[in-house]
Amino acid sequence: MEARIIIKNTLVGKLWKRLARRKNYSGVEVIESVNELPKNLGARIFLVSRGGILRWAIMACPCKCGDSINANLMESHSPCWQVKWRGNKISIKPSLWVSEDKCGSHFWIKSNHVYWVDN
Ligand SMILES: [Zn+2]
Repeated sequence: MEARIIIKNTLVGKLWKRLARRKNYSGVEVIESVNELPKNLGARIFLVSRGGILRWAIMACPCKCGDSINANLMESHSPCWQVKWRGNKISIKPSLWVSEDKCGSHFWIKSNHVYWVDN
């Protein structure tokens, strides 16, 4: 654990992490409940749709930190993201971000591609 933290904080570690990041997602899977989520989300983006209403977009963080990202799609809640999806291709807007105290990832998803917003 300690060794991992040391590698993570070196320049080489940061560069390596950057190269290992996901560049695209493989596709979309629509489910009715978060209970249907597999343990390993893999490269898919899961859309939770119930009663004809899209509720959540859930995916593994593309930096591969192991966390999952849950984006709310319900307009009644804030913040709210919009998805455009046709077949297996999905775009999500606005950009998705993870707080700095976690991995700090910031990216867009357009047609399954991950576009990183790097500071
Ligand atoms: Zn991450």
